[in-house]
Amino acid sequence: MENKIKSVGIVGSGIQGICTGLQLVKKGIPVTLFDRQDPLSASYKPASYGNAGHFSPYAVLQFNRPDVLYDVPKMLFSSYGPLALKWNYIPKMFSWFFHYFKNCNNKSMLHTAKYMHQILSLSNDAYEEIFQQIDTTGLVERKGIIYVWTRNNLKSRKLEIKVREDLGIKQKLLTKKEILDLEPNLNPVFDAGVIYEDAMHARDPHAILKEIFKLYLNSGGRFIQTNIKNIEQTSINETIIRSDTDEYKFEKSVIASGAFSKKLTDQLGENIPLDTERGYHVHFKGKEHLITRPVIFLDRGFGMTPMNQGLRAVGTVELGGLKNPPSKKRIEYVVNCAKELLPQLDQHEDEWLGFRPTLPDFLPILGPSLKNKNIIYAFGHQHLGWTLGAITGKIVSGIIAGEKTNLDLTPYSSKRFN
Ligand SMILES: Cc1cc2nc3c(=O)[nH]c(=O)nc-3n(C[C@H](O)[C@H](O)[C@H](O)COP(=O)(O)OP(=O)(O)OC[C@H]3O[C@@H](n4cnc5c(N)ncnc54)[C@H](O)[C@@H]3O)c2cc1C
Repeated sequence: MENKIKSVGIVGSGIQGICTGLQLVKKGIPVTLFDRQDPLSASYKPASYGNAGHFSPYAVLQFNRPDVLYDVPKMLFSSYGPLALKWNYIPKMFSWFFHYFKNCNNKSMLHTAKYMHQILSLSNDAYEEIFQQIDTTGLVERKGIIYVWTRNNLKSRKLEIKVREDLGIKQKLLTKKEILDLEPNLNPVFDAGVIYEDAMHARDPHAILKEIFKLYLNSGGRFIQTNIKNIEQTSINETIIRSDTDEYKFEKSVIASGAFSKKLTDQLGENIPLDTERGYHVHFKGKEHLITRPVIFLDRGFGMTPMNQGLRAVGTVELGGLKNPPSKKRIEYVVNCAKELLPQLDQHEDEWLGFRPTLPDFLPILGPSLKNKNIIYAFGHQHLGWTLGAITGKIVSGIIAGEKTNLDLTPYSSKRFN
């Protein structure tokens, strides 16, 4: 197929930006990725670095659900809950909350589940294609992912199981004994659980991302390390990406800046209610052998993944924006939850705060800006951006190249907020 696109600039070399860049260069389109952090450096620490490493094609339900809404006040006022607020940030979240409450009903929940399922069901295959082209030795495990819960939490679990069943998602319910047979080191503080056997996990998300980035560079992609201040569409076939010191012209540009994307979209005159759900991780070095696959304790909103850096304990949702400092209490919460499930754990290291990019209906935005058709959006992947990286690359590169698709992409348009 003849390719008419002359050049593309992408702001953000997280997993969305890199995978989109890779698919574009493979189509023969010249690409330049911009990021203030070099993906190959040890100081690179965005969400795509520090996540829990789950490839979760089953995770169609997020938090725009009536049952969660009912639990929110209780969670917020508990000092030992999975959800926390930085109270100084609440006034800045009005627009997000407004859209969130609008979307917290059965109909919206099922709409999100349907269209998350549309892309999640393609997510593992999209990664497998990339994995055939990079060295993943010791980096990807295919042992499924386990969720556990107590009987206090059954109402929400029944809802999730039913929605997944209706969508035909493979899931295997587990008794307490079956969980302990699979993960004998766990402290049996739970009553039951489920395993998603088709799920995979990363032993080191940053190492995988670096391999994909190197493939992008070796396929002809360019990278410039700089902070981007502004993007503008100047004519029907020209966009300009501006850094603090330079400007760069491309036929099309992509905003794939994760939770930071709103700074750029606001300048384009589109009021998109993107915000962040802050999450934390710590490592227990040398303790990764205690479990063989990720285990998530749903009552606590936290999980543990065996990784090359150690046992990574990850979790909590903190609403507090991009600028507030990390919360010691949230770190303590994650550490205590990990010790509840694995009392053998002792000292932790590497405290990390990351920013999930979340829209209030929990669907990402994939597609052109409403007012600037040559600027394409690829952000808002919330808790599932690691899982969705490879498929986002395929979808967004297809949109840019003007390819036909069988997918219904309308639900991912930013039009839904305007
Ligand atoms: C605690 C935690 C656990 C998670 N666990 C999982 C999981 O197990 N599975 C899963 O699927 N997902 C998980 N996620 C979600 C996932 O990590 C994110 O959705 C995903 O990494 C987002 O990717 P991204 O490329 O959109 O953004 P990012 O990874 O944040 O990358 C955005 C990039 O843009 C750059 N950037 C931003 N603005 C500018 C600018 N103005 N100029 C230059 N560069 C800029 C940043 O430096 C950054 O490198 C988790 C997230 C967190 C926080």
